[in-house]
This record gives sequence, structure tokens and C-alpha cells, in this order.
Amino acid sequence: MNEASLTRHYSPSRTVKVGTVVIGGDAPVTVQTMWKTPLAGTNPQEIITGIQRLQKAGCALLRFAVPSLEEARLLIELQKRSPLPLVADVHFDHRIALACITGGIPKIRINPGNIGGADKAGEVIRAAKEFGVALRIGVNAGSLPRLLRNDKNTVKAMLMAAEEERNILERYGFYDAVFSFKSSDVETTIRVNRLFRERYDYPLHLGVTEAGPLIPGIVRNTAALYTLLTEGIGETLRVSLSSDPLDEVATGREILKTSGRPVGGVTVISCPTCGRSSFPVRDFYERVKQELDSIEKEVTVAIMGCPVNGPGEARHADLGITGAGKQAVIFKKGKVLRRELIENAFEAFVKELRNL
Ligand code: SF4
Repeated sequence: MNEASLTRHYSPSRTVKVGTVVIGGDAPVTVQTMWKTPLAGTNPQEIITGIQRLQKAGCALLRFAVPSLEEARLLIELQKRSPLPLVADVHFDHRIALACITGGIPKIRINPGNIGGADKAGEVIRAAKEFGVALRIGVNAGSLPRLLRNDKNTVKAMLMAAEEERNILERYGFYDAVFSFKSSDVETTIRVNRLFRERYDYPLHLGVTEAGPLIPGIVRNTAALYTLLTEGIGETLRVSLSSDPLDEVATGREILKTSGRPVGGVTVISCPTCGRSSFPVRDFYERVKQELDSIEKEVTVAIMGCPVNGPGEARHADLGITGAGKQAVIFKKGKVLRRELIENAFEAFVKELRNL
């Protein structure tokens, strides 16, 4: 818990329903991601298999770029087979948003300010209200409305853009909206989300945009999202990485775990290894990863390089493994459970994992 979380208290946000998923209120913070290839030209079965993998990894919502009416049609067909609620990301052409709304897509990411004028925005909002579809208003520092683009105070400009969008929605009596404020700058992302939460109770979708490739991206996302989550800000999140969506979901879940949110599944602790190591920590983790990912129960698993610090440093682990010469030692809450030859360690460990 950081100092800010000791001083800030926010009431739960209002709730917004997206198909079977609830965002906000007392619902757990959800992790979402975005599909990274064009809908047109990708085999639908390939996408369904990808969605199933993402769901298994802990993804609750999946967003698709929908730049044409043809792709809206493909998304609608996909939603009929998808185990996850899908989100359409629509810009400029209100007909695409209308097609998605009337076709059964439960959430649209849209900015009423860039959908072709007040009348067209009104049509979309009225349709969303009629069909019970949620809207996400995404305010990005890099694509602010023209009048606000040159404002040197980016945080203020982002808030003004959001307020304008909120006014449009509320003029139509529409409140099923989630807002997001994304910047590639961590500090800006934190400040603008804090200020919005102080003023409004709409759920916030957290994220850092253009965060970069895997390692720098994880660092930037974690810095911003951990800070906000430990202050009680954020009802859903997407970690943006120039990497596989599965990496985005895994990172999102780790950030939630680190910030003390219950997400279920395994927390892995492992040592970095050193000259004392007699166990192939990294290779073993890669081998056992799939098995670990399939566990829904909230447990801690340790993979350590040697017995000197192994079971001791990982004494709180529900199950652990370490090396001792040619043997692997499997331990539970710091107590040795069994010893196996290293070559038999995988099977023995998996057996114990399944007994957890
Ligand atoms: S647990 Fe053993 S191998 Fe791992 S870092 Fe500590 S001393 Fe080194």
C-alpha cells in the first residue's frame, strides 16, 4: 500500500454492464485486451481459438478495430460464437457504430465528438440506450479535439475533452459509459485519472497508450496502473504492449495481484538463480507454465534454484520446488514433501500441483 492510498478514498463507481460482464461498483477489476489483426482476412475459427485462449488466461473483454461496415458484419457473426463479450472500436463513421449496436455487440468504444457531427452522435447514443449497449469514451492525449490540441496543460485539456463528451451523452440521458484517459506519459495518466475520479463516478478503464515493447511497456503500465489501483481508481484495465495480447492479459493480472486485488490463479515466485543454483528454474517454469495457468484457485508456487535459501525464502508458498545436487526437493509451506531425481521432478511436481 502506498502513501496515497492511505489518504485517498473513493466511493465505488456506478456500474456498467457489458453482456455478462459488470464493470464498476463492487465488481472485481476486469482485464481486457485488443485483437491485433484485421477482422477481414483472418480466419474466424482462428479468432475463436484465440478468444478461448485469452479467456483461459483471464481476459474478460476483447476489443476489435472495426473500420468498415464489412468488418462490423464480421464482428457481429463472431460475437454469436464468442465466449467473451466483444467491444467494437469505431471512429468517424456512425453507420458502423449503429450496425454493431443493432447487431448485438455489447460495447462500443467511440468518441461522440469525432463521429461526424452532433446529429450522428445523437443517433448512436439513442441506439445504444435503446439496445442496452455500453459506450467507452476514450480520451487520448495524442488525439485531442483540434481546439484543445495546443493546450500546454495536457491533463486539463483531456479533462475538458471528456467533459464535452459526457455532456453530449447526458443530454440524451445516457449514463452507461466507461471513460478512459490514456497518455504515453505515466505521470499524465495518473493525474488525469485521479482528477476525473474526484469529479465523476463513471467507471474508469485504465491504460497507458503507446507504452512500448514488452519490458519498457510492462514498466510504464505497472507504474501508472499500480499507483491508481492502490488508490482505489480503475474498474477495468488494458495493458498496451507491442506484444502478444496474451502478454497484455498476463501483465494486467500480475498488476492486479501486486496491487492486492483478488484475481484467482497462481502467483509464481522464483529466484533469479546464482552460482549456487542446482535447479533449472527458468526451463522448469517454462515447462510447468501451462499447468500453472490452468489452476483457478488462489495459490502461491515457488521455483527456487537451491536449498540454501530455497524453501526458507519461499516458506509461505503453497507448493515449491528446488534443487539439491542431483535431486529436486518438493516442499509445502516450507516443509519437505518429497525428493525426486531431477529428471522425474516435472511429473512429481505436477501431481502435487493437482492436489492443491
Ligand atoms: S535461492 Fe539459491 S540459487 Fe536462488 S538466488 Fe538464492 S542462493 Fe541463488
